[in-house]
Amino acid sequence: MNSFQVSGIGMTSQRTRERLVNRLKEEGIQNQTVLNIIANTPRHLFVDEAISHRAYEDTALPIGMGQTISQPFIVARMSELLLDTGVMDRVLEIGTGSGYQTAVLAQMFKEVYTVERIGPLQRIAQKRLRNLRAFNIYYRHGDGFQGWSEKAPYDAIIVTAAPESIPGALVEQLNEGGRLVIPVGSQTGEQELILLQKVDGELQQMSLEKVKFVPLLAGTIE
Ligand code: SAH
Repeated sequence: MNSFQVSGIGMTSQRTRERLVNRLKEEGIQNQTVLNIIANTPRHLFVDEAISHRAYEDTALPIGMGQTISQPFIVARMSELLLDTGVMDRVLEIGTGSGYQTAVLAQMFKEVYTVERIGPLQRIAQKRLRNLRAFNIYYRHGDGFQGWSEKAPYDAIIVTAAPESIPGALVEQLNEGGRLVIPVGSQTGEQELILLQKVDGELQQMSLEKVKFVPLLAGTIE
């Protein structure tokens, strides 16, 4: 695991981060590795300074371009679902956004491959993660519906925006034994968090809790 050096940059927020971790525990997050990573990840550096005082509330916040940084509970929940994968070498993330979930993944997996369709968001996230010295992350500006086939297969795939059905390319790029965690549903109706696992070439699918994500959209924005 690669742990960030948060001393100096994040010290003032250590106590508020611990309060957030306690809250996540109360809400049912049990995996200690995930809780330690959340305690070690400076979420205030992934939002605009103007709203950074709200960074340790358990809520989604705006990051510009109509997008949001995911709620810490959902980041923790999706991360603990991936942690049961077994092999933790390579993860593909669709929807870099602020880069916060990426930062969490970088502390769980050897290599993180992350795809974002909106250029300006990707550039800002990349800069933040470099400043945190997270060097095991590879970035692609592209349409996540296609995954990132050149680097496949992945031990785990996480999607942080909701399509109406599971994109076939992502299932194809999943390694044997690998796990895909993805919100599926419409913007007006309900969305469900889905866990899909490839076991002996077969797909096992499980529906988990109801969720609310921004849409997974096709195409890219420069
Ligand atoms: N995990 C991020 C979530 C950001 S919101 C965070 O916590 O900050 C979802 C992100 O998915 C947005 O940045 C959005 O631009 C991106 N996205 C939506 N559709 C996409 C697609 N087809 N390919 C790649 N990224 C996409």
